[in-house]
Amino acid sequence: MVGGSCLCGDVAWEVPGPCDFLYHCHCSICRKFHGASFATLAAVPAAGFRFVRGSERLRRYATSPGNERPFCERCGSPTPSEPTGERVILPAGALDDDPGARPVAHIFAASKAPWHEIADTLPRFDTMPPGFPEPQLASPDRSASEPGCTRGSCLCGQIAWELAADLELLRNCHCSRCRKARGAAYATNAFHRADAFRWLRGEDARRSFKVPEAERFTHVFCGVCSSTLPRVEPTLGAAVMPVGSIDGEVAGRPRVHIFVDSKAPWHEILDALPQHPESAPF
Ligand SMILES: [Zn+2]
Ligand SMILES: [Zn+2]
Ligand SMILES: [Zn+2]
Repeated sequence: MVGGSCLCGDVAWEVPGPCDFLYHCHCSICRKFHGASFATLAAVPAAGFRFVRGSERLRRYATSPGNERPFCERCGSPTPSEPTGERVILPAGALDDDPGARPVAHIFAASKAPWHEIADTLPRFDTMPPGFPEPQLASPDRSASEPGCTRGSCLCGQIAWELAADLELLRNCHCSRCRKARGAAYATNAFHRADAFRWLRGEDARRSFKVPEAERFTHVFCGVCSSTLPRVEPTLGAAVMPVGSIDGEVAGRPRVHIFVDSKAPWHEILDALPQHPESAPF
């Protein structure tokens, strides 16, 4: 069996392994929903899938009629949906075991984040691969960042933020908490002094989950759509911003991989950035 669970552990599921179809999705909805540079998903037969616990804790955000994104109401992690059709879509970052399969393709590569370089040689499709139905994806229309001012928002648009600066300091974190909170291969986070950060709207709709045994790790997310949001870390005097939340381009590019000793077994790092087994100084 291949198991998975959300960051708080309230929701858990399992499927018979190996998972047969893993793919990376670069669409703008996945990037906002996961708060990551891209999402990695596994499509598995619904017949063998079951929730071990916590299906009553699922909440959903509908991006279009019939297209719902499920998440854990307590911690905001992306989760699988209740099976309705032939297949269930699992967020690969939430897997607790090696799925026994490796990603086979990039989809919606034409929508990829400008700061993300695809370093592998897997097939890339601009949208869906031929033969699959083409979903209607409306990119959220938001005020884009401009030089000297970085802007971001959640998927549903209720919450928006602004940093009165360019974002230069981007780091890819492979720790298991980041992977579960985003349901992604890793989290790319941007860091800046907190005094340049402000909420533009919707900050009352924020929710947060602090991992009880962690010193600081807190997942801040939108209570409506569960997109990961920035968090201001008073002990560091810093704002930590998930790049998936950013509207438009950023000035910087990821500089380093951290917590590589915890990386997902199904994810291979193929770029030339420095790799650190755990944390690394700024
Ligand atoms: Zn949870
Ligand atoms: Zn997608
Ligand atoms: Zn939202």
